[in-house]
Amino acid sequence: MDKTGLYAVSARNTHMQHWQEPRQVDLCQSARHLRRIRLVWSMWSVQVADASNCRSLYMQISNESTPAVAAVAFDAALLRKLNQLGPRYTSYPTADRFSEAFTADDYQHAVARRRDMGARHALSLYLHIPFCNTICYYCACNKVVSKNTAKAALYLTYLQREISMQAALFEGMNQVEQLHFGGGTPTFLSDDQMDGLMAHLHRNFEFAADEQGEYSIEIDPRTVTPARIVTLRRQGFNRISLGVQDFDPAVQQAVNRIQPEEDTLKIIDAARYAGFRSVSIDLIYGLPRQNVISMSQTLNKVIAASPDRIAIYNYAHMPHIFKPQRRIAESELPTPDAKIDMLFLCIKRLTDAGYVYIGMDHFAKPDDDLAIAQRQGRLHRNFQGYSTHAEADLVACGVSAISAVGASYSQNEKTLEAYYQRLDRHELPIARGIKLSMDDLLRRLIIQHLMCHFELSLASIEIAHPIKFSEYFASELAQLELLAADGLLNLDDEWITVTMKGRLLIRNICMVFDRYLDPEKSPLRYSKTI
Ligand code: SF4
Repeated sequence: MDKTGLYAVSARNTHMQHWQEPRQVDLCQSARHLRRIRLVWSMWSVQVADASNCRSLYMQISNESTPAVAAVAFDAALLRKLNQLGPRYTSYPTADRFSEAFTADDYQHAVARRRDMGARHALSLYLHIPFCNTICYYCACNKVVSKNTAKAALYLTYLQREISMQAALFEGMNQVEQLHFGGGTPTFLSDDQMDGLMAHLHRNFEFAADEQGEYSIEIDPRTVTPARIVTLRRQGFNRISLGVQDFDPAVQQAVNRIQPEEDTLKIIDAARYAGFRSVSIDLIYGLPRQNVISMSQTLNKVIAASPDRIAIYNYAHMPHIFKPQRRIAESELPTPDAKIDMLFLCIKRLTDAGYVYIGMDHFAKPDDDLAIAQRQGRLHRNFQGYSTHAEADLVACGVSAISAVGASYSQNEKTLEAYYQRLDRHELPIARGIKLSMDDLLRRLIIQHLMCHFELSLASIEIAHPIKFSEYFASELAQLELLAADGLLNLDDEWITVTMKGRLLIRNICMVFDRYLDPEKSPLRYSKTI
């Protein structure tokens, strides 16, 4: 392919029953143009029935390299000025927009539509294991705290029933390239229980070979031994994510998560020995008793352990929503200014150590798949954070799990009792969800792209959607002008480009495109953007 040439591409947008004239896309040697073509492909992959020609074009340019994404810039005054409550956009529309009017029938219709469209992308599977031995006071997850492992045995019988029902729905298009076990604590399951569950999954779905698939599991290092890590690798997992939060014993005590440093380091060593392709560590800033000194010491230890990915989440203290957080002494929480100092420290230390800022709390080594996917314009954002499988439908099983299939989101029942009752009635346990309109799809695409790539080609949007960007988003562009005046982004006729200092406030930029946000209602369910 001649990168300096002109490509004529055309698409039939089946959602809108609208034929677009062939458009010419100027591919000069700039990486931006390559990313623009990839964006167009990613839009068509949701909407176009027969996209094989487009896919071939996409595959050719995907093999080409593009420049590395530069680091983020830190502006404390700007962060203080613009720090506000806002969604994290693991989905758009956000989960609080899901409705009980969306039923299992709607979900089955969404799957049937994917089949009609000749769905050719492999699936992403998510399995939710809700049990934990003990409670961490900062926790905002959907979990069941118990030491009774018999509860897991009952849960697994129902989970396997749901997996079988989903597999029947996806028969003939049930190839899986991505699997994620989350919770709760997936390692609450015993080795035998995990063996049985993995065997059931393999009976029901076709999994890509180990070297092609991403098979990940969240680990609580307090619940596993090095031998268990070797077993997990044998069971088919090739990526592992460890909850650490903070190495400081005083902080661990304040959040009821005592996790000796040497135990965590032993598990990381075991993961390397067992041949896991990627080791990820989760940290939190803003916990009680944390300060820049303790955070600096934790960062020293994390950098020495050299994980492939690091996620540093902002602790959002919302005891009005999450009951366990009421056990945190508010007097011990760091001030907003101290949190900003800690964030600055994290970014400085990790980027100095060679990690790439991926966006929204995530860092990765430059040769990690996430960083490569970002450079190549293939990065995607879903309920597990960032992902390299942009086109995959997400099929989620387990209590409270959220699926994303075609132009729909759906969430399972949130309590074990309701989840079991629905499955006893041989129904998919879907409690609520949403069918995305064309406007939702368009805004989701824009928000996703800004979150993952910090830039947006306006022409790419116009190629795939029958809109004139400047007219359709006139009020949004006016709001963006204000953020541009603050230095968060640059706007011209062709691109929205997030500046280095705008990257930390990417949620603020995306919120401009969220038509559901109502400034009149206090968005207490959201956390602060920093
Ligand atoms: S943080 Fe993880 S281990 Fe702790 S209670 Fe929540 S889900 Fe369980």
